[in-house]
Amino acid sequence: MPAGFAEGVRRNMAEGEAGVGTLNCPETNSRVSVTRQALVLFGSPGSGKGTQAKLLVEHLGIPQISTGDMLREHIELGDQVGITVRDTMRAGSLVSDELVNGLVAQRLSSPETDRGFILDGYPRTLAQAVVLSKLLDSLHIREIVIHLVVDSDMIISRISGRRQCPVCGSLYNSASRPPKVSGVCDLDGQSLVIREDDKESVVRERLAAYDHQTRPLIEYFRETGRTFVEIDGSIESPKALFERIRQILCLHGLPS
Ligand code: ADP
Repeated sequence: MPAGFAEGVRRNMAEGEAGVGTLNCPETNSRVSVTRQALVLFGSPGSGKGTQAKLLVEHLGIPQISTGDMLREHIELGDQVGITVRDTMRAGSLVSDELVNGLVAQRLSSPETDRGFILDGYPRTLAQAVVLSKLLDSLHIREIVIHLVVDSDMIISRISGRRQCPVCGSLYNSASRPPKVSGVCDLDGQSLVIREDDKESVVRERLAAYDHQTRPLIEYFRETGRTFVEIDGSIESPKALFERIRQILCLHGLPS
């Protein structure tokens, strides 16, 4: 963890604005605050983490931290980080822990995360999970890990229909979430693209990386007593899945 990182986050959180995101919880007949809450969306490629993260951002008003999106932005910019990770990502392998931990650390030390944050695609290795746990423990932040469970056949069919807006990042799927006009983003009219790493051979590599390096984290989350909840992510409608996640967040009574 970079020196001063935890201190920076602690300071930002202490100075944070009072206005917090809240959830209506009919299940418990209450409203719960999401102040300083870390929500970790965990699951294989194509499990719906990115789509759910975007819905949660809208609903909770806390930012999404997607390491995949951050890395793609660096590639787009053509800077040193982008040049370093481009070939690894094209091959469907994971980039180095040190680099990803550094990117997340930088992002978490910014004031926009004061009220909480949604991690999407991080942690993805044991080394990343250990760094994150130490940080959250030192900040007295209790994270909720939500595992979206989807079987591999469905994942391949989902990813093959996936299209993304290169400008705003909105995700579409020709089967389950088509844009209003084929091939065009509903929000900004940009032509949708297939992510380079969504080609079938690369998808297989990404799934293999998930099996070998990421799936073992399930054991880690359980053994270390993190709040870890599994949800059937094969529910086709993103809104219905979001509703399940919302209920779980309510039932776990996010602390303020
Ligand atoms: P998906 O979850 O569908 O694979 P992401 O956008 O999260 O998509 O990740 C795309 C790629 O970015 C990964 O295949 C990997 O190369 C890289 N990446 C993203 N997050 C991490 C991470 N936490 N650790 C290492 N590599 C990462």
